[in-house]
Amino acid sequence: MLTAIIGRETTHVRDWVNVDRVAVIVAIIAVIVSVASVLYGRRQADIAEGAKQEARRAADAAEQQVKIADAAKEEARRAADAASDVAKMEARRDHLAGAIKDIELLRVESRQHPNLPHRNLFAVFRNSGHRVYRYSIQVEYNTNSHSPVGTGRIHAGETVDVHLLRDGIRYGGIAAWFDGECPCDQPDGDQGHWRKFWRAPDPETPRDEPPNLH
Ligand SMILES: [Zn+2]
Repeated sequence: MLTAIIGRETTHVRDWVNVDRVAVIVAIIAVIVSVASVLYGRRQADIAEGAKQEARRAADAAEQQVKIADAAKEEARRAADAASDVAKMEARRDHLAGAIKDIELLRVESRQHPNLPHRNLFAVFRNSGHRVYRYSIQVEYNTNSHSPVGTGRIHAGETVDVHLLRDGIRYGGIAAWFDGECPCDQPDGDQGHWRKFWRAPDPETPRDEPPNLH
């Protein structure tokens, strides 16, 4: 009786696990596996997407760094240019504050020649700056004609007289070349670093000395 019951139960279990049911279980397992693999695949895709975004962010950040570095380089270049402009301006200012500003023509004097019955004109220059200059003075009769009349050195605070020409001869002006220390990078002229020109004073201009009555 018991054996019969067990045998029936066994038969019952064996009946339940028949071919069809195995197929159903296999199908269910297959579905589970495929769902799992879809989920796995999706997760992999998410990871890949995350990595891609991370890479994009890193690339963007790198690009940003390059831009910042470029901007800094540009800024440094501008600062260097500005510093160089300032240095050039200072050199230019020093140049303009050189002989052009320092050397003044105080006056042109007419003086009686010590031995001859005529008068001579003398230019009186003063160096009101702090530098020493070499000078080369010319009398300009016109744009094409001039003659050298004196060279020398003029020290800071010094006054020098330069004989120009015989009084009464018409001339256009006095041209002077000066040389001396200058921090600028301007090339020197024909005969010096600075050139200055003074138009001849009007002959009618009253002179410091009383007129010669001889
Ligand atoms: Zn200069």
